[in-house]
Amino acid sequence: MNKKELTAALKKLGIKRGSIVMLHSSYVGMEPMDGGPDAVVDAFLDAVGPTGTLMVPAFGSLGIIAEKVKARPNAVFSPCPRGTIAAIGPKAEEIGRDHWKAPTAHGEGTPFTRLRDLDGYICLLGVDQDRNTTLHSIEALLELPYLNDTTATFKTPDGKERTKTWKYYPGPHRDFIGLEHYMRHEGIIKIERINNAMVRLMRVRDLFDLMLEIGEHDPAFALCDNPACADCVKQRAAIYADMISKELFKLTASSRLAGRYVPEMIENLKAAGISNIELDYIQGKACAKMSVDKLKKAVGEFAEEGIAVSALRLFYLPETPADVVKLAKGAGIKRIIFPLGENAAEAVAAAKAAKIAVAFANNGQGGILAAKTFKEAAAGYKAASFALNPPGFVRATEFPFLTSYKKGRMVRICGQLDLADATWDGCATRLAQGNGEVKELLSILRCETFSGWVCLGGGAAYPGSLSDAANDLTRLLENM
Ligand SMILES: [Zn+2]
Repeated sequence: MNKKELTAALKKLGIKRGSIVMLHSSYVGMEPMDGGPDAVVDAFLDAVGPTGTLMVPAFGSLGIIAEKVKARPNAVFSPCPRGTIAAIGPKAEEIGRDHWKAPTAHGEGTPFTRLRDLDGYICLLGVDQDRNTTLHSIEALLELPYLNDTTATFKTPDGKERTKTWKYYPGPHRDFIGLEHYMRHEGIIKIERINNAMVRLMRVRDLFDLMLEIGEHDPAFALCDNPACADCVKQRAAIYADMISKELFKLTASSRLAGRYVPEMIENLKAAGISNIELDYIQGKACAKMSVDKLKKAVGEFAEEGIAVSALRLFYLPETPADVVKLAKGAGIKRIIFPLGENAAEAVAAAKAAKIAVAFANNGQGGILAAKTFKEAAAGYKAASFALNPPGFVRATEFPFLTSYKKGRMVRICGQLDLADATWDGCATRLAQGNGEVKELLSILRCETFSGWVCLGGGAAYPGSLSDAANDLTRLLENM
């Protein structure tokens, strides 16, 4: 191919006189080319004409075509140590001006959004969407929770040394390649073979409109769903933690749902974006039967990884509640959840003496009886609350929301909602797949600005992994 033929092919693709084009390229597919990579640069400059502007990224490993643009004497660089670009043409100065002053490297006030404002194009020559830096612009505008700060020391155009931090800077892996099918489906991308390269052209405004809409509905839109991709697992966890941080309730998870061993629990909690754990079982053994030293060690291991213990939970009525209180206190756990039973008053007295919080989960009683038993036992102790366990009320053949919650006036006493579900015949189910009315309970508690605990897999078996349970909660929250 020669320069003239390439210019004609670019015009056919949609590049017009006066166009502003951001070019991401690889020279490999342009071979053989008369005049080499310089001829490719000239073909682009000819296609946009003297009133058009050609832009290339000027950071990282960019390929020989971008290097040739950078080397031209009339190339203008955007002054920024992050996301800098080089441009040739009448708009080059305007596009790059004061790039370093923008609060983000790719958002408003940067060449990437100016290209949108000036109604420019992006051309991917022999490369795919993975190289499309403008998609970082969309991430920055959406202020996605997994983006980080980046800091650099650099010289501003007036020669002064400065240190600056940019917000919403992109991290490691992205699945930009996986976004192209949306563009094809919406018809906002043209793809043609030119010489031996696949060449893509899209209008920047169309790209922003489409991707912002997708990203507003799904903040994980640019991440891959490969469970072996540690980058995207971590970034998804940041999105989850951000979603939960906007809730008034505090989220915790059952330790036996989180895993069998402490390191496994930590890894699963981190991957899910959850930073609290309710200790019921470790290695299949009841935590309340562990020695103080062992339990304290486990609490320390969680704390080291930024995970707090929300409670110690029992599934049996202990002979001597005071011993359990002593164990929790010794291990540094500030709250105990007992099953509601005949020694509830004794447990309250022991907790009160040790100045430790206590909760009671309904254990086969109906709502009215459970509330009455709890209130009698907890009278006069403010740090005593009720842990509402939907499968427990299902076991008592009640509708946990329509009957137990309402008749027991649970709103007055509830300090925790267990996110677990079951059918009338006792089978554990995923959230809102059984008779536990979990969705109704969670929704009413949110309406009543409930600021207590919500525990994934709390006080009941869960038919799935922690990740399944966390996703089930997302689905519930998105659908209320
Ligand atoms: Zn990934």
